[in-house]
Amino acid sequence: MKISFLGAAEMVTGSCFMFEVDNVKLLVDCGMFQGGSDATELNLKGFEFNPADIDFLLLTHAHIDHSGRIPQLVKHGFKGKIISTAATSELCSIMLPDSAYIQEMEAEWLSKKRVRAGKHAVEPIYTVEDAQEAIKLFVGINYNELIDLNNNITVRYRNAGHILGSAMIEMWVREKGEEIKIVFSGDIGNKEAPLMQEPSIIEEADYIIMETTYGNRLHKDMKNKALLLLDIITDTIEKGGNVVIPSFAVERTQEILYELNKIKESKTIKLKNIPVYVDSPLAINATKIFENNMEYLDHDTQELIRSGDNPFDFPNLTFTETADESKAINTTKGSSIIISASGMCEAGRIKHHLKHNLWRADSSIVFVGYQAKGSLGRRIIEGEKTVKVLGEDISIRSKIYSIEGFSGHADQLGLLEWLKGFKKKPAKVFLTHGEEEALEVFSKLIKNELQFENQVVKINQTIELTASNTTEVVKERYIARKDSIIDSIENVDQKLHNVLQTLKKYVTSKEDIKLDALYHMVDSIDATLDNISNEIKK
Ligand SMILES: [Zn+2]
Repeated sequence: MKISFLGAAEMVTGSCFMFEVDNVKLLVDCGMFQGGSDATELNLKGFEFNPADIDFLLLTHAHIDHSGRIPQLVKHGFKGKIISTAATSELCSIMLPDSAYIQEMEAEWLSKKRVRAGKHAVEPIYTVEDAQEAIKLFVGINYNELIDLNNNITVRYRNAGHILGSAMIEMWVREKGEEIKIVFSGDIGNKEAPLMQEPSIIEEADYIIMETTYGNRLHKDMKNKALLLLDIITDTIEKGGNVVIPSFAVERTQEILYELNKIKESKTIKLKNIPVYVDSPLAINATKIFENNMEYLDHDTQELIRSGDNPFDFPNLTFTETADESKAINTTKGSSIIISASGMCEAGRIKHHLKHNLWRADSSIVFVGYQAKGSLGRRIIEGEKTVKVLGEDISIRSKIYSIEGFSGHADQLGLLEWLKGFKKKPAKVFLTHGEEEALEVFSKLIKNELQFENQVVKINQTIELTASNTTEVVKERYIARKDSIIDSIENVDQKLHNVLQTLKKYVTSKEDIKLDALYHMVDSIDATLDNISNEIKK
C-alpha cells in the first residue's frame, strides 16, 4: 500500500492525500490551494491522477483548504462516495456552492480583462452546478462509528475539535495477511476554543499523517483574547471608528459572536448599543447549521443555550443577508463592529469593508485567524503601506491587530500533547500542513522530546507503507468495534436528552416550536439506531 502527498506538503493549504491499496484508490481531503497567484496556478493545473479512478473520498472537515476542490474532482469524473460527518456534509452543502460562485465571478472578471487585452477568456475552475453535483455524493456519518469501506479497509472518524463536524480519521488497512493502522490528524483543534469539544486522543497507530500549521508557535494570547478584543473595541469606539473583523464564516465567526455576547452582557461597559453586523451570507447560513447541530458543541455551550442564552442572538446584532443591507452598513453614522468573510480577505464582502475602513485612522482591522502567505490579509498584517482592494489603491492608516488566541488550530504545545496520547511509538509520523519553519522546528521537537521517527513530506511524494506491529493493530480494531457500539448508544442517549430539553423549553417559554430543528434531531436519532443494529450484526 502506498500514500501520495498531493497537497498541504511543504505548505499549509491544498490538503489532499491519495492512498492506494490493491485496486482501490482513495483520497483523504481534496482542498483548494490558497494565498495569491501561485495558489491559483496550482488549482488551475488539474489533478495528478484521473479523478474517475478514485473510489472514495474521505473528508476531514468543511474548510475550503480541505474540501474546496471537490466540485472540480466531480467535474472531471469522480463518482465515488464522499464520506464525512453529517455536520461536515451539511456545511459543505453551503460552502461548496459559495466557493463555486466565487470561482465563477473571478473567472468572469479575469476573462473581461483578458479579452480586452486580446487574449482568450478563461473558464471557472468549477461552477455552482458542479458543486450541486458534488453535494449529491456525500454520505454523512457519526463520530466513533466503524465504517467498512470494503473487506480490507475500515475507517473511524474522531472529533478533531477544530470546527463543527471536524474529524481525525483512523484507517485500518488489510493487505497480504497484514494489517496497518494509519491516522490522519486533519486539522487539530485548539483546546481553549469555547464552542468546540476537545480534540480526541488516539492511542495507537503505525503511521500518522499530521498537520503542523502552528508547529513553531505558541498562541500567546489564548487566556486573555477576549480582554484584548474588548480593549480594541473600546478604544476604537472612543475614537469614533469601526471595528472590522475579517473572519472565517465557519466556527470563527460563531466564536467571535460568543465572545461579543459575553462582552455585551457585561454591565461595566457601554457597549450595549453598538451595532454588530455579521455581513456574510455564508456565515449567516453557517450559524444556522451550528444551531441545528447543538450536540456537536462544547458541553458548557450546550448548557448555556439550554438555559436560554443563545450566544448567536443578542441585542443590536444584525445578520445582513442582502447586498443592499450590506452596502447600507458603510453609510450608517457612528461606530459599529463588522464581522465579514472571507477570513484571509481574498474574496467576499470583507473587501468592501476594507476599502471603506483601511484608510481611516480611527478604524481598526482585527485579524482573528491564520493568514496564508501571499493573501491580502497576510500582506496587511506584514505592514504593507498601500494595498489594492477592488481595483483601487488604498493607503493603510487604520490600526491593524492580530489576536492569535482565537485560532481554531492547536499550537505547538497542543500538537505535542496530542502526539503524547499515542501509547507507543508509531513507525513514522509524516509531517504536513505547515510552512517550512513550522515543519522543521516541529520535526526536531518530536524527535528530541518523544523520539518519534518523522519525515517532512514533499509535494507529490509517494511513500510505500509496510506493517510493523500487525497483531496489536488487529486487537485494537476489535476493541474499537465494541467502543463504537457503546459510543453510538451514548450518542442516541444524548440526542434524546436534547430533544426532551428542547421540548421542555417550548413548553416553558412562549417561543414557537421550530419543527424543522426537531425533525432534524429525530431523524439523526433514527439514523444512529440503524447504525447500531448494523454494527451489532457484524
Ligand atoms: Zn481547517
